[in-house]
Amino acid sequence: MNLPSPVTAYIGLGSNLQNPAAQLECALQALRKQPGILMVKASSFYRSKAVGPGDQPDYVNAAVQLETTLSPIGLLDALQSIENTQGRVRGEIRWVARTLDLDLLLYGDQTIQHSRLQVPHPRMTERAFVLKPLLELAPTLRLPDGQALKPHLDACAGDDVSLLPNGSTDTWP
Ligand code: AMP
Repeated sequence: MNLPSPVTAYIGLGSNLQNPAAQLECALQALRKQPGILMVKASSFYRSKAVGPGDQPDYVNAAVQLETTLSPIGLLDALQSIENTQGRVRGEIRWVARTLDLDLLLYGDQTIQHSRLQVPHPRMTERAFVLKPLLELAPTLRLPDGQALKPHLDACAGDDVSLLPNGSTDTWP
């Protein structure tokens, strides 16, 4: 029997509630335990200003590179189950504060248009809080169509995203 060959995927992580750095650590642990996923590396943690309605706390963001034998939807299911375990309340409104957001950014060199899943993640090229940690992991990474990601990061250089000092848990609600 042929086993599926592993695909390299990249995940974006974000949290701005209930000790965001600890939420991300917990999500990394959950990813490490997930059948069908081998974590290759995780980026540093970054602090970013919230995009979205109202006055929200800053986010902590990171990215991970993994190898997976899960299908794209299987991987999305795994990410959503980790979000749900960590108390994410799914609602209609986008960009509200959340304990954990896990986005499937890239899945090999596949382009996916599914009712539940779009890959590459549709907004990843506009956001320094996604691109900075992602390019820390893979500085020469490209989209499936061959476009380099670095120029996209350069284009959002004005975004307020900075490295989070190790172990910092200050000032979050
Ligand atoms: P958000 O609130 O921005 O995290 O969006 C979550 C919704 O986006 C879920 O219903 C997912 O099914 C959908 N979705 C579409 N593409 C992706 C993706 N690449 N990664 C994660 N969620 C996605």
